[in-house]
Amino acid sequence: MSYSEFLGQMGTVNDLLSSASLLSWDARTMMPSGAVEVRGQQIATLMTLARTTLLSDETLRLLEKAERSTRDLAEDSAERRALEQTRYAIEMHKRIPAALQAERVAVREVSRAAWAKARAEDRFEDFAPYLEKVVNIARQVADAIGYEAHPYDALLSLFEPGETVVSLNKLFGRLREAMLPVLRAIQQKPQLRWDFLERDYPEQQQRDFGLQMAEVFGYDLRRGRLDTTIHPFEISFTREDVRITTRYKRNYLPASLFGTLHEAGHALYEQGVDPAYTRTPLATDMPGMYAVGGVSYGAHESQSRLWENHIGRSKAFWDLHYPALKAHFPDQLSDIDVSAFHRAVNRVEPGLIRVEADELTYDFHIIFRTEIERDLIDGSLKVKDLPERWNAEVKKDLGLDVPNNRLGVLQDTHWSTGQIGTFCNYTIGNVMAAQLYKTAVTVDSNIEPALSEGNYAPLRHWLQQEIYQHGRRFSRDELLVKSTGRTLDPEPYIEYLTGKYTSLYELGALKP
Ligand code: ZN
Repeated sequence: MSYSEFLGQMGTVNDLLSSASLLSWDARTMMPSGAVEVRGQQIATLMTLARTTLLSDETLRLLEKAERSTRDLAEDSAERRALEQTRYAIEMHKRIPAALQAERVAVREVSRAAWAKARAEDRFEDFAPYLEKVVNIARQVADAIGYEAHPYDALLSLFEPGETVVSLNKLFGRLREAMLPVLRAIQQKPQLRWDFLERDYPEQQQRDFGLQMAEVFGYDLRRGRLDTTIHPFEISFTREDVRITTRYKRNYLPASLFGTLHEAGHALYEQGVDPAYTRTPLATDMPGMYAVGGVSYGAHESQSRLWENHIGRSKAFWDLHYPALKAHFPDQLSDIDVSAFHRAVNRVEPGLIRVEADELTYDFHIIFRTEIERDLIDGSLKVKDLPERWNAEVKKDLGLDVPNNRLGVLQDTHWSTGQIGTFCNYTIGNVMAAQLYKTAVTVDSNIEPALSEGNYAPLRHWLQQEIYQHGRRFSRDELLVKSTGRTLDPEPYIEYLTGKYTSLYELGALKP
């Protein structure tokens, strides 16, 4: 009884956060631009109410009562985990002084606006004072949360609990050492043909095909929908309403095509959470104050990448679905066979922009951003020296000269909104996707034959059992150990990339 009373209270917190998310979805898809300011206030009101409810004496009273009544349950029971996570979140939020929290929220808005203007005008120096404030606040938040070895560890704990400067150094070191020779070998080879991806692809057909493939993966449209936006995202208001968005580029087919498959992967995770966890702490990121069923940003990204890349960019997928794509674009693709199409959507080419990067070079963008964040937070890098450091990093691995800060250090929105510590989740997602996918096809011999027949149910079922249904009950590494027998391991990802590009670019033996 006392546990269900506790859940009632937490349902309120989740409802407020879900409502804030719904307003945010609306702001990013449908809202007329005139409402920007008032919508910001509306979302802030809901967020404040959610926080006040979580930190209230009433929540604490119900929490303590529920803790007493569930003492005899297993440590990893859903009940005990929900209570433990709630206690952790309350204690964490209480460590952040109210004045600092208020400043954190207030700076976010002005800093984002300053960044957008500085980016448009290519004036880093105008954004620098705001970024200094953001970094300074992030450092104070890190100190308030607490850490053992490095202040950046405290920030990582908000997005990717368990990761630290030390663990990321090791992971990134191994990836860089293994992937750089692949990139260098590709750069010696003639580029694969891809010009036809820039032909004229009308939006409606792009939408129809993308949505059809999302449904083929198992995205349930009775509990979802697809809309258009500027920066694509997936968002959920419980598992019963999980929405995806995309952006159409009429002269570049892959943007929306793979973007839709990516967001559909995120959506499968949210739609697959155990219905019993709806409106509970096991479908709420309470430290981050966000209504989400996935356990970490990296775990979430593993699902988008798995469906986008391991399935959506595979030869088996296109052997089956290329005729349908051609039926949508008979003129544009009339002279292109499936092998040429498959090679084109997998080509590798270092570029300046992270969100446009291919599978192989993407992680290089992430590695140097993460190292820059770490150095900003511990003070070894000053904001004023940031463009110079950025440009040197891009030169080092990608071999490119950055012509201006617009195409360099000003390209991402993350830092302007105070999101420091999230970039690593993209690479963690890539690594985790390969580890899960390799295990799935190894332990269940029905999965691969089914995939080659266009039956995605066995793979989805395995992921459902191992990952989706658990919501936030188990940590990311607990899920990995249960499903693959070990914690995060870069080797399957390295094996996947090396194998894929050796074949696509006909690479010989790689020199380390
Ligand atoms: Zn994603």
